[in-house]
This record gives sequence, structure tokens and C-alpha cells, in this order.
Amino acid sequence: MTTDLAAFAKEKGVKYFMISFTDLFGGQRAKLVPAQAIADMQEDGAGFAGFATWLDMTPAHPDMLAVPDPSSVIQLPWKPEVAWVAANCVMEGQDVAQAPRNVLRRLIDEAAAEGLHMKTGIEAEFFLLTPEGDQISDPFDTAAKPCYDQQAVMRRYDVVREICDYMLDLGWGPYQNDHEDANGQFEMNWEFDDALKTADKHSFFKFMVKSVAEQHGFRATFMPKPIEGLTGNGCHAHISVWDAPGADAKTNVFATDKGEGPTGELGLGEQGKYFLGGIMKHASALAAITNPTVNSYKRINAPRTMSGATWAPNTVTWTGNNRTHMVRVPGPGRFELRLPDGAVNPYLLQAVILAAGLSGIRSKADPGPRYDIDMYAEGHTVTDAPKLPLNMLDALRDYDKDAGLKAMMGEEFSTAYLKMKRQEWDSFVSHFSHWEKEHTLDI
Ligand code: ADP
Ligand code: MG
Ligand code: MG
Ligand code: MG
Ligand code: MG
Repeated sequence: MTTDLAAFAKEKGVKYFMISFTDLFGGQRAKLVPAQAIADMQEDGAGFAGFATWLDMTPAHPDMLAVPDPSSVIQLPWKPEVAWVAANCVMEGQDVAQAPRNVLRRLIDEAAAEGLHMKTGIEAEFFLLTPEGDQISDPFDTAAKPCYDQQAVMRRYDVVREICDYMLDLGWGPYQNDHEDANGQFEMNWEFDDALKTADKHSFFKFMVKSVAEQHGFRATFMPKPIEGLTGNGCHAHISVWDAPGADAKTNVFATDKGEGPTGELGLGEQGKYFLGGIMKHASALAAITNPTVNSYKRINAPRTMSGATWAPNTVTWTGNNRTHMVRVPGPGRFELRLPDGAVNPYLLQAVILAAGLSGIRSKADPGPRYDIDMYAEGHTVTDAPKLPLNMLDALRDYDKDAGLKAMMGEEFSTAYLKMKRQEWDSFVSHFSHWEKEHTLDI
């Protein structure tokens, strides 16, 4: 593990460090620091005016310092003279409570105190568009069912291969790449890891995909529903909890709990059930984090897409290996949360899963009945499961009403997040749209 960034620069020929933090809206903010200044910055942090980002600060706040976490450093594979390093936000000697990486770190520490260590893998789908972003980059990618399209994936081989090669070099253990269910859409998968590591990789993956796409003359987007009528960008999370972090993890707590053991329902032990129970109980509220934009609600609850299915949930239900529900248990010892979308903040995604899951374990939450049905065809037969929020405002209200989840995520975070997101909602509804003119002019 790297501890000295100046030595890292010397050894790797790095000229600049990109000291990066993520704000409440998931924006990655950075300063480029020359290697000769990195020793001081590693100790003191790089200075930022917090108000200039989405962190709910005023212009009068003192400097916010982004203190690099050297264990996260990555030399940019496409620009080796630069290294990216994730930073923790500090103000006047204290962690900034609402900063997403700090929210996650605090929850990881809380879980660790109870002997629980979450590991996750994410599937960050994306589209390759033209540079203007108004259409997909490949005019021949028009199939009605384009998933796994062999010809179309090869037309973007140069982009996909470059990103996958970089993940191989970085040791992330990538294992498959494919054309996804929408025209112009791709998915690249790498191995699961400790929650903070996955969050850092998720952030870096978005940065890398956008950068490589730009170099090839395209524009990559993780927007939840960039093209009307086509399947949107999900960001499914696969979740398990272990007895120790990193390579020390020996026992998957979800798979081997004493209560039911690996022979439990679908191979999910008692602790896994309780964790899942927490996710089910807080689902409508946590959608405010996992589906954080106005556009997010055009992916969930969507009408059938051109391919025949949205692959996104509309109701708070769980099942076995069946992709029409909010939660799928694909195999023993883990479950997949299919709710999050491409706009999700990488740190808040992990944080809210851990917050809900941990509260589920503490309260021995029951995940409720399992529905092994095709939710797209038979969803109307399920009468005792809540529907997911229909828009961002409903999700924010559900979050605000969930005192337990708000407390787990931290009061300062929750207040700041709700305030910033409500302002965003107000901005959206005050926007005068073409639709309302079209539907109201002659009334
Ligand atoms: P699918 O498309 O079937 O949902 P993918 O293969 O695209 O699945 O992604 C699965 C993700 O789940 C990968 O990141 C993988 O490493 C991760 N994963 C596998 N096992 C576990 C586990 N026990 N805990 C957490 N994540 C896991
Ligand atoms: Mg200045
Ligand atoms: Mg997948
Ligand atoms: Mg997918
Ligand atoms: Mg999946």
C-alpha cells in the first residue's frame, strides 16, 4: 500500500497529482498539484472554497481541505504523468460531516465495530454518444434487441479494449464486457471489493470511461435514461458482508450464518436476510440517494422499452435469480440491488446500502415474502408491496420521513442533501417546458 506520494511520484515518473473529492451531487472536483508540492499537500490537504461545489456551504465558510488518501492513488493509464488520488474533506481540523466519502468511512467504521465488513461489486452501465450527446455514436447500432450484439460491440472494440486493458493493468480483475440492452449501451465488469475500494474504483471508472471515450471522439454518459424509449443506465450493486476487510476476509457472513447456514432460503443466511430486510424497509427513502436525479424516475417505473423490458424495478420486491424485481438473489451468499442508476454518487451508494443494511441487522428486519413471478407481466397481482417513488420529490419526501435512515446517514448529511436536492427540484419545476405549452395553450 502506498503511503508516501512523493516517493510514488519519483518511482513512477508522476509529474502531477489530481487531488480529487466528490460532492453531494456526485461531481468529482480536483486540483492538479505538481509532484514537488505533494509532500506538503499530503499532510495539510489542498484548499477549496466549499461553496463553489455542491456541499451546502456558504461563501463565508473557511477553507475546506481535501486531504489525499494515499492508499487510493492511481496513475492514469492513459496519461501516466498524472496520478489521481481520492481525498477526504476536512475543515478546521474536523471531517466535513456531509462530504460523501466521509459519510461512507464513518459507516464502514460503525459496521466494523460490530464485526461486519461489506464487500460490493457494481455494474456501471454507460452509453457511447456523439460528442454533442444527442444521439448514439454508432449509426448502425439499430437492432430491436441489441443486447450482446457481437457486431456492434466489435465496432466499439477500440474503446472497450482500451478501458479493459487499463483495468487489467490496475489489477481490478475485469472479467467480461458486453453490448447492453439499449442501442449504444455497454457494460464492463470487474471483481467486487471492500465498499470504500469499490466506491473509489467506481469514481475512477466513470472518469476513465469518459476520458477514453473523449479521446476516441465520443461522449460517454451514465445518465439514467439518456434516450427515450430505450433501456436506461443501471448501476446494480451486488452485496455481501464478511468477517474481516480486504484479503483477511475468510467467512461470508451472509452465506454461513449459524441460523440457516448455506442451506438457508436461496443460500442467504440469517444475517443476510436481516440486512436485506433493512434494504426492503428503507427502499422508498433510499431511492432518494440511489436514484438521485429528475431523470432517474424515467428509468424506474418506465413503460416497456424497445427491447421488450426495462430491466428496472417499479416495486419493493425481492426474489431468486429473476431480473424483474428490485432485489435478486443470483446465488448463495449475496444479493443484487437493481434499483441504483448511473447518476448515483459512488460513495453515497455504498453508504446508504450499509446504513439500511446495518439498521436491518440491528433490528432483525424481516425482508417479507419473496415473489417468484415476472414482475413486468404479473406485478399487478402483488398488492402488499410498496411502489417505488414516482419522481424525485416523492423520493426526497420519503427520505425526509425516514428518521431512522436519516440518523444512520448522519443528520448533517441528511439536512444538507435534502436542502441541495430540493433546490434542484425547485429549479426543475420552475423550468417552463415545451410539454406544458403544447398541452395547455388551447385549453
Ligand atoms: P449480473 O449482470 O448477472 O447482475 P455481473 O457479472 O454483471 O452480474 O456483475 C456481478 C458483480 O457482482 C461483479 O462485480 C462481481 O464481482 C460481484 N460479486 C460476485 N460475488 C459477490 C459477492 N459475494 N459479494 C459482492 N459482490 C459480488
Ligand atoms: Mg483563488
Ligand atoms: Mg451485469
Ligand atoms: Mg446490465
Ligand atoms: Mg445486474
